[in-house]
Amino acid sequence: MTQIDVSLGERSYPIHIGLDTMPVLQDVLSRLGARGAVAIVTDSNVAPLYGAAVDQLLGEAGLWPRLCVLQAGEENKRLDRIEWLCGEFLKAGLDRSSIVVALGGGVVGDVAGFAAAVYMRGIRFVQVPTTIVAQVDSSVGGKTGVNHPLAKNIIGSFHQPIAVVIDLTFLRSLPDRELRAGLAEVIKHGVIADAALFEYMEASAERLLAKDLAALEHPIRRSCEIKASIVAEDEREQGLRAILNYGHTFGHGFEAAGKYARFLHGEAVALGMHAAAALAQEIGLVDEAFVQRQRDCIEAYGLPVAWPEMPVDVVLEAMQHDKKAVGGALKFILADGMAHVIQRKDITEAQTRAALEAVREGRG
Ligand code: NAD
Repeated sequence: MTQIDVSLGERSYPIHIGLDTMPVLQDVLSRLGARGAVAIVTDSNVAPLYGAAVDQLLGEAGLWPRLCVLQAGEENKRLDRIEWLCGEFLKAGLDRSSIVVALGGGVVGDVAGFAAAVYMRGIRFVQVPTTIVAQVDSSVGGKTGVNHPLAKNIIGSFHQPIAVVIDLTFLRSLPDRELRAGLAEVIKHGVIADAALFEYMEASAERLLAKDLAALEHPIRRSCEIKASIVAEDEREQGLRAILNYGHTFGHGFEAAGKYARFLHGEAVALGMHAAAALAQEIGLVDEAFVQRQRDCIEAYGLPVAWPEMPVDVVLEAMQHDKKAVGGALKFILADGMAHVIQRKDITEAQTRAALEAVREGRG
């Protein structure tokens, strides 16, 4: 069992990582003074796998759990689910001292966290992430929220959890495609901050794709350490935290152009990292060997590095939409070497187009 601390003054919290950590969840809740009603928010895929066990565990700890099951899927990350959850919390008797447990992937964590942020003007919540994306990224850092029909993640709040409890054994049931998409975010952490992590990812594809839990512990722990240290320095994304968006400027364009059905988020990020590397080469920040090395690693995880039928103009248009959201220039996080990234706001449309064309044609 490993513990990592997210240092945020009075909002600091521990991340516990290990195998069969559910007894730790019991301890965490009792140390935090949980009493009476507690809500377990989960989704329709995770509930049949782990809902009853967590419900029983919390019951044995003397709590009165209420299982609140959302339909699985990104399309359920929407505002009316918050109203529904608040109704469930009320019916369960949650008060201002109560705790919400978010048991699931990033969708559950974002929705449950936002419900906790607004219920009675904010109550405490614990993240129990069950996907790689959630274990290495979304459960840490306090970004919570839902989508609007016009834009993703546009309604939300910073609301830090009071603890994160990561149980690697949950990954045994994770579909392979979700596993690969989650590992894209780990590769991203290597490129932005840790050359040794990137080397580990290069060398370990076979074991990680086979869900060797002993092999998965290291990259999940390192990712949490990296994210925790970035969040501790820049909780509200005023500066440094933006480096976590490596691959995302292009990635959001790919997701939108694929109508949010063609790619999982991590797949779009993988393709986005490749486009970002092509762009970095285009403007002379990295050489071809860097682009090839990152490409080989992404491909080793069965993640996309080309999109032959990509509608370049649609991707560009979707990226412009992101530009409006930040009220000015399009921001790119680009590598200028392994484990070192910079932010650039001076990229021209012609340079962006050239990088997209490299991805369409499978170059780079
Ligand atoms: P997800 O929550 O939709 O989970 C993916 C799928 O796996 C779902 O069908 C889910 O039911 C299923 N699942 C979850 N755990 C399982 C398990 N152990 N076994 C079997 N099936 C399981 O998606 P995700 O990839 O975890 O997260 C993506 C979401 O996270 C997006 O909405 C994204 O915007 C958000 N996100 C948020 C942050 C943040 O900082 N808050 C960061 C990254 C991503």
